Amino acid sequence: MENKYELGWNLENSYMELPPIFYTKTRPTPVQEPKLVRFNKVLASSLGLDEDLVKTEDATQIFAGNKLPEGSIPLAQAYAGHQFGGFTMLGDGRVILLGEQITPKGERVDIQLKGSGRTKYSRGGDGRAALGPMLREYLISEAMHALDIPTTRSLAVVTTGEAIFRETKLPGAILMRVASSHLRVGTFQYAAAWGEVEDLRALADYTIKRHFPKVTQAEHPYLALLKKVIRRQASLVAKWQFVGFIHGVMNTDNMTISGETIDYGPCAFMNTFDSNTVFSSIDTGGRYKYGNQPPIAHWNLTRFAETLLPLLDEDEKHAIKLAEDALDEFPRLFNAFWLDGMRRKLGMFTEEPGDQELCQDLLQAMGKYEADFTNTFLALTFNRLEGMTLFHSEEFKNWHKQWTKRLEQQEKTEDDVFELMKKSNPAIIPRNHLVEEALEAAVESDDYSVLENLLADLSEPFAHTKKQAEYAKLPVPTTPYQTFCGT
Ligand code: AMP
Ligand code: MG
Repeated sequence: MENKYELGWNLENSYMELPPIFYTKTRPTPVQEPKLVRFNKVLASSLGLDEDLVKTEDATQIFAGNKLPEGSIPLAQAYAGHQFGGFTMLGDGRVILLGEQITPKGERVDIQLKGSGRTKYSRGGDGRAALGPMLREYLISEAMHALDIPTTRSLAVVTTGEAIFRETKLPGAILMRVASSHLRVGTFQYAAAWGEVEDLRALADYTIKRHFPKVTQAEHPYLALLKKVIRRQASLVAKWQFVGFIHGVMNTDNMTISGETIDYGPCAFMNTFDSNTVFSSIDTGGRYKYGNQPPIAHWNLTRFAETLLPLLDEDEKHAIKLAEDALDEFPRLFNAFWLDGMRRKLGMFTEEPGDQELCQDLLQAMGKYEADFTNTFLALTFNRLEGMTLFHSEEFKNWHKQWTKRLEQQEKTEDDVFELMKKSNPAIIPRNHLVEEALEAAVESDDYSVLENLLADLSEPFAHTKKQAEYAKLPVPTTPYQTFCGT
């Protein structure tokens, strides 16, 4: 397909087909002195953007919001959401959608600027973002993608040449974010709370057309939509659990309909396995701790289902029954995804009745002996059972016997098992101390080499190179780590 505009831009603006309550046309606020500090060449080329794009001065101006790419009609999206359980009106307060790029494969992806100035939905905020958090989002979202976890992507970061004020004065930055869409549970909540039924129907139809086109053929398309979203989220959260990813702020406005991870604010990866792990400074009740991610996803999906009730059936009681039946599937679905992935992490190709207990027993021992999550699975993969208290415990020794017996039950060679475990257990995750090191060098010393190296090593987490083995080293001691929202 020929791209419509120069340098590979191929933008459409289908979001504007929605009723006007869903958005406000808004231009980015220009910044003083934009400087490109990070550009994702591989992603750019998969989007059909020209290789030379980055060499043009225009590119930096576009990534900064000082200039619009051809075909862009910029807007801010309206949405609502439950934040830590409390319902409020939100919307893009510091984000502007430039349009949807149609990729060479014919996919439609949102191109957004984050930190691009105030909008109608900014409330008290300045519409801006700081360099550290934008690089953090870039790094972690790209690492998640490499870990095979659905996520928004990061195309570029520019510094603005302007200071922003949080607790201290910080350098401002803008991130160009790419997503299969930014439709959220919160977008539906907004429609249900502030729109007419026809607005809600328009949103549901748009969502189906964009993400689940086959659903139009279902006997009951809106129920099928609900079931699809439940399935995508069950699969997504299971994938988070496999790598110890803690999102940190699973508010309904931060849960996409597409099933991509979004909003890299206070997220972080767990070192020592502990279901109660929480990093976010404001999550004092542990609402979004590691072990709560599946039930919170279920809770959020229940809020989603509630918004769909008027579309599910004219008879409210029957609509509720349909929604409840679909939601009741979540625990079973999640567990099926979880067990499937855990089997792969442990080299199991087949399904046997005791598998669930076998996985749980390992996690329990890991918790008791404070084992590092990533390194335990790496040690099992490479059969290097040393250096961790866990491996000398009776519980583990017993477990290991059971596991060995279990592996012998399948007609697979040791090599088969090794290969499956290698591609299911990452050699490297963006550990908190590594992320901090990389950000500090970039923000404090304008040295991007640490970030570049880390990004390169994170780009193939299942390669298990010699260099990556270095990353198994833990910070000494594993210091308590805190992350922050609203940065
Ligand atoms: P978050 O916690 O990042 O999901 O953001 C929650 C809400 O606050 C969203 O509506 C954001 O658009 C908005 N928001 C966050 N930071 C800012 C900011 N600096 N200026 C304006 N709005 C913001
Ligand atoms: Mg958000």
